Amino acid sequence: MTHSRKPGFLRIAIPTPLRRTFDYLPPAGIDPEQLQAGIRIRVPFGRSEVIGVLLEVTHQAAVEKRRMKRARDILDHKPVLPEELMRLLIWASRYYQHPIGEVVQQALPGLLRKGKKALSRGIPHWQLTNTGRQCNPSTLRRAPRQAQLLRLLQQHPEGLNAGQIDAHEKQWRPVMSKLVERGLVEIKLTSCLAPPLHETAGGLTLNTAQQEAVARVESRLAEFHPFLLDGVTGSGKTEVYLHLIERVLANGQQALILVPEIGLTPQLLSRFRQRLPVRIALLHSALNEQERLCAWLAAASGEAGVVLGTRSALFTPLARPGLFIVDEEHDISLKQQEGFRYSARDLLVLRARQLNIPIILGSATPSLESLHNCQAHRFEHLHLPERAGQAQPPRFRLVDVRGQKLEHGLSAQLLTATQTHLNDGGQVLLFINRRGFAPVLMCHMCGWHHRCERCDAHMTMHQQSRRQRCHHCGSERPLPQICPECGSSELIPVGYGTERVEEALGSHFPDVPVLRIDRDTTRRKGAMQQMLEQIGEGTPRILVGTQMLAKGHHFPNLTLVGLLDADYGLFSADFRAAERLGQLVLQVAGRAGRAERPGEVLIQTHHPDSPLLQILLTHDYGRFAQSLLKERKAARLPPFSHLVLLRAEATDERLPGQFLAEARAEAEALQTAGIELFGPLPAPMARRAGRSRAQLLLQAEERNTLQQLLNQWLPRLENLKSGRKVRWSIDVDPLEMF
Ligand code: ADP
Ligand code: ZN
Ligand code: ZN
Repeated sequence: MTHSRKPGFLRIAIPTPLRRTFDYLPPAGIDPEQLQAGIRIRVPFGRSEVIGVLLEVTHQAAVEKRRMKRARDILDHKPVLPEELMRLLIWASRYYQHPIGEVVQQALPGLLRKGKKALSRGIPHWQLTNTGRQCNPSTLRRAPRQAQLLRLLQQHPEGLNAGQIDAHEKQWRPVMSKLVERGLVEIKLTSCLAPPLHETAGGLTLNTAQQEAVARVESRLAEFHPFLLDGVTGSGKTEVYLHLIERVLANGQQALILVPEIGLTPQLLSRFRQRLPVRIALLHSALNEQERLCAWLAAASGEAGVVLGTRSALFTPLARPGLFIVDEEHDISLKQQEGFRYSARDLLVLRARQLNIPIILGSATPSLESLHNCQAHRFEHLHLPERAGQAQPPRFRLVDVRGQKLEHGLSAQLLTATQTHLNDGGQVLLFINRRGFAPVLMCHMCGWHHRCERCDAHMTMHQQSRRQRCHHCGSERPLPQICPECGSSELIPVGYGTERVEEALGSHFPDVPVLRIDRDTTRRKGAMQQMLEQIGEGTPRILVGTQMLAKGHHFPNLTLVGLLDADYGLFSADFRAAERLGQLVLQVAGRAGRAERPGEVLIQTHHPDSPLLQILLTHDYGRFAQSLLKERKAARLPPFSHLVLLRAEATDERLPGQFLAEARAEAEALQTAGIELFGPLPAPMARRAGRSRAQLLLQAEERNTLQQLLNQWLPRLENLKSGRKVRWSIDVDPLEMF
């Protein structure tokens, strides 16, 4: 009998919100058996052409051959996404129930999505020629913009890249071309990788706990083994990473390090460059498309020894992966909250398992999930219980503010302590979780106050810009001079935010420089970096800031941290609020006294007897976490169960509830043994940006039970008519419940 092989079809992931794959005939003359998964292919789709990624060559097409379209052309000889990443992406698409086409797109740099060649010659830099260096800009009197650019470049003899020029000039490219034509400027291509610094510092002598942690990981360098590096702030976790990365590099392998926030990359990058003899690729949201592609390709080719990036850098291809690290693993920024809602930490653990390499999750305040994984022996728990070097742990004090008259949110004790620390030459950080001047502006005569018309929220009063703004939808309007209800001019701010505290400090300590750091003062590109530098130089003596300041920054002169309001974390509807409060308190506190000077932490509260705050006073996060884990276990909440949240919103307030009720009925018609359903219920903020929002929560003890249901449930949800009239989304392992 002759064996005739069926022809192969191309199964392709297409960038569309449809939860399915698409089959195509190979381009004429192409043998599909020669094609590898992970290459890009241009295909007709609807009335246009799109670029998809090959998932597999199949012999069982989902549609009839005569109705199948032919792919147009093959863009890559070699996969841009290696097999290992393709497997991870397919898994993630199933687990998070997100369309495979969109998942694959997220893993690709923008230029590859647009069909550009997987090649980078470097990043263009504009630099003066010899003539340009000698040219006096005032001779270009007829061309003032050219003169201005020339002046800019003369101030930067090392040359500037596009992003740097953008910061000074708008629409400068045609002007620059003129300068190039005149022979005053030339374009040079430079590497996107950060080279090691010439003056490299040697490693520190590790203390016993650090040595032990390094030894534990070193004994597992050739296999999958997840570690939780649980070390108080300043205990030398970064030093442990550095030792291990050096070791991995010496083996000829690469290391990938994820941090939750772009603001943390410069500090780590400069430490890495001082110590590691390799080029480092940075991957974060502030790169332009060329820089991103260049860094991505350098990781894939192995030219970059270390890759340092934020969330989506987890999808970077690596030539010789040897070690993964997730720093500040408790941080919720590691979970994407929009569209493809994935946890970068959890996916990187999975990727490490596929690659059979170790992974370290590091934090001073580990997530309850990771601590639970240690107790269940899925992760190995490494401890760094003490601060490294000379630094002492900070002293904690609760300030009972009940019945006290506060000066714009500041208690007498906190003001006194601030004065004392300033006198001793220390820096002071006052932390408050609200930006703006006051959360509400109210009429003293009739009680009128402004609510956002589109949200269930107040408009926040901003003094400096003289505006009221909704922090949830961005609506804004001028501050009223008189009450629109009764005409009174006695409008009073109620409560306080960063602006108000800044102002109060200015009048209480008139000669002391105060710096405010929140989303309003750091909006401009590069502003945050500039402020961090000022803080490091010790110029501002008092810092007022929001949680932006709580993350791993290193402020050597800081000796006092004050938390103006710890109470909001005690009464939130979110079951994770207490965990977040504890993490925040210890992280903010960790900014104090990191060098030789001892630190002090003052926490203002109306609930000084709260058991949670009492445990926090002992500075023992482990004990705090254990007490929370006990509560979670009793309430069967994560990590002792698993959640899926189905959210829906629409302008018509009846529609979300209707859709969710039908969705619930569909679930109940399927196998739901072991799953509890809660809702439909209004979301904690039931109206936002003019839309009504509701949710349905699914809870189960076993992940698999939920996964099995989701696989059958989602196709049914897509067929619900009521689903077309709302915006709905599914969130597997949600971290925020709104
Ligand atoms: P973490 O990442 O845990 O916050 P770092 O690695 O940034 O801690 O270390 C905190 C400070 O202690 C840094 O200034 C670092 O140089 C110093 N340090 C770390 N390890 C040691 C050590 N073994 N001996 C002396 N100083 C150390
Ligand atoms: Zn009034
Ligand atoms: Zn609003």
